[in-house]
Amino acid sequence: MAYESELALRLVPYVAGEQPKNVKLIKLNTNENPYPPSPKVAEAMAAVAADSLRLYPDMDASALCAAIAKVNGVAADCVFCGNGSDEVLAFAFAAFFAGKTLAAPDVTYSFYPVYANLFGVDYRTVPLKADFTVDVDGLMQGGPIALANPNAPTGLMLEMSEVERLAMHAKANDAVLLVDEAYAAFAPGTAIGLLERYDNVLITRTFSKSHALAGMRIGYAIGSPRLIAALKRVRDSFNSYPLDRLAQAAGEAAILDTDYTAKTVQLVCEARDACYEALKAAGIPVLKSSTNFLFVQADPEDAAQVQQLLREEGVLVRHFKAERLKAWLRVTVGTMEDMKTVTGLLLKLCRRA
Ligand SMILES: *Cc1c(COP(=O)(O)O)cnc(C)c1O
Repeated sequence: MAYESELALRLVPYVAGEQPKNVKLIKLNTNENPYPPSPKVAEAMAAVAADSLRLYPDMDASALCAAIAKVNGVAADCVFCGNGSDEVLAFAFAAFFAGKTLAAPDVTYSFYPVYANLFGVDYRTVPLKADFTVDVDGLMQGGPIALANPNAPTGLMLEMSEVERLAMHAKANDAVLLVDEAYAAFAPGTAIGLLERYDNVLITRTFSKSHALAGMRIGYAIGSPRLIAALKRVRDSFNSYPLDRLAQAAGEAAILDTDYTAKTVQLVCEARDACYEALKAAGIPVLKSSTNFLFVQADPEDAAQVQQLLREEGVLVRHFKAERLKAWLRVTVGTMEDMKTVTGLLLKLCRRA
């Protein structure tokens, strides 16, 4: 016997990027937005009457779901909101993958294997190809599929005709295709167009990156009413009120301020592409990003030392120890000024093959 359950003992928790105490660092390690959220967010939060906090929030976050539906051109009953897209993903794993065999790329968002372990999912990884693109045919294993698109930490986007092939394969096998679109706002495409034809496709999104609200914890899913109903069954078996009143008001204000989002996303994309071009011109391997980060080969063998040197220069980036990733650094895109600093440092510190 032990105090802990067998479940608690076998968990292998997710390891998030560091949140440093030293605020002077240029923080480019967790893909946060360098700009503040829309000014309308603070206004909306201030307008939440203090007295209303006595009362439980709307469990379905109806106004927020309606705003998300409007901006994305879908029906409101196709939207589900959760406490960050991490929670939405957890509910999706429980609702659609528990007890089944799930196929996912070997290099992808590292929370998927953690949820698989928690929810009793047989998690089968399919190696990315040598150029870090997704092996679409390899993912077709007769069951559900999880795909981050654009992928993390590569930043590469899989074209929609290929995503559709996965949707078709999953549907033919009565299974769900999960498309994690955490970075969709920075990408040239989205799978939303597939929803009309595929009731088995679930798309997840987050306010953490494109809407600069990582601190509020707001995520959502878009999919057929049947899939949304299954997510609600899981939610109501765990925590019926995942989003508090402040988060619901903040999210609604943020998503409806489409001009502000477009403007800040544009600034991030410009800084990203300028850094990409400079690294490429200098012969430093870097992947074409459809996200708010760049994946840079900083050392032909192991980039841990370059990460440390960057830190000593006041810049925090993410390094992954996995064999296939250890030569690379994931650099979140900051302001144009941040990126000038980082580009200069990378040109100086990266070791070429
Ligand atoms: C950041 C990220 C998430 C989590 O987003 P939250 O809403 O902050 O929980 C999910 N998936 C991917 C691929 C991400 O990069």
